Amino acid sequence: MVMKGSHQIFPTSVVGSLPRPEWLMDGISKFERGELAEEQLKQYYDEAVILAIKQQEMTGVDEVSDGEQRRFSFLAFVAERIPSFKMIPASELMNEDAARYAEKMNLPVSIISNPVIVGPIKRTAPLVADEVKFAMKHTQKPVMAPIIGPFTLLINSWNKAKSSRYYKTPEDAFLDLTRLLREEVLALRDAGASFVQLDEPAIGNFVDFRYTKWLLALNGWKVNDVKELHRVSAELINMTVKGVTGIKVGVHICRGNWPADEEHLSHGGYENMIEEIIDLKVDRLVLEYATKRAGTYDVFKEHPWHGEIGLGVIDVKNPQVESQEEIVDRVEEASKVFGSETITLNPDCGFASGRPWPVVTRQIAYRKLSAQTEAAKILRRKHN
Ligand SMILES: [Zn+2]
Repeated sequence: MVMKGSHQIFPTSVVGSLPRPEWLMDGISKFERGELAEEQLKQYYDEAVILAIKQQEMTGVDEVSDGEQRRFSFLAFVAERIPSFKMIPASELMNEDAARYAEKMNLPVSIISNPVIVGPIKRTAPLVADEVKFAMKHTQKPVMAPIIGPFTLLINSWNKAKSSRYYKTPEDAFLDLTRLLREEVLALRDAGASFVQLDEPAIGNFVDFRYTKWLLALNGWKVNDVKELHRVSAELINMTVKGVTGIKVGVHICRGNWPADEEHLSHGGYENMIEEIIDLKVDRLVLEYATKRAGTYDVFKEHPWHGEIGLGVIDVKNPQVESQEEIVDRVEEASKVFGSETITLNPDCGFASGRPWPVVTRQIAYRKLSAQTEAAKILRRKHN
């Protein structure tokens, strides 16, 4: 699908989430304490989405999202919509093994909740198609739709103690789980989304398998060798998009999005997962690349990617706003490997993957998106 009203090179986009305004956070707390009616909270959510859209428009970004304002997190929202999943705090699922891994990574376990499979997986309601429909009513710009990717969902949601009654092994859930997501992708196409992005930070975790091992321990998923998961991740994504036409689909890979100090975050380039990346039957890869922890573009010289690239040019975890020149340099360097025609400029990740853990303030997030727009203008002048 071509972006409405613009065929220019170096389009700009977002990866999804934006920090929630304080008044929304206060409203949610009040609702949870029983001091605010559900109808009033819904009004707050609607207003927060409209504000997120208008603020994105003011930055000049070409394609907007609804800022994921309604979701608890990029992952847990599944349980807020589909009763086959239940949001369970990670602290309730913890065991000795998992605690050991969590400690090594300085993981904020107390604020993590996973959507755990607690019944046969069925799409009984839209996951995000209704969010997109609402957003489209409030903007003329194309609206992209981030949804959870199948591998990240499965490794977080199949829990031996809670899910094996319905799916004895994670493999037994492959078909139902990918059907759920495929049905959502088709609903998003029908709703008019410009792009569907499958969020797969669990693939980014393959750089060192630390987070992967934590999840396997937490959920009692036994594998002989963690490297088997490389194949599983590509298989699940390709099952999800099989037969899907009429909508552009991409996969977003990053190394997690906690407001942790750099030393506790995962380091490593895409060479750690390049085989399955090249196998993906999707239109666009949305890759973290502004952070130095993501390595260099070199791996794609030896393993050329056939499709588009959503190039991470904004380091979402660094409060310092990038200069236009810095962003231009990043894109020029990447163009030598990917070609200038394939690149969309976007941040490395969302600015607030979870409601409780924005990585920068709203003000900084929007200033960064403005810098991205200005950089795209310079690039278009240079390349046209
Ligand atoms: Zn991300």
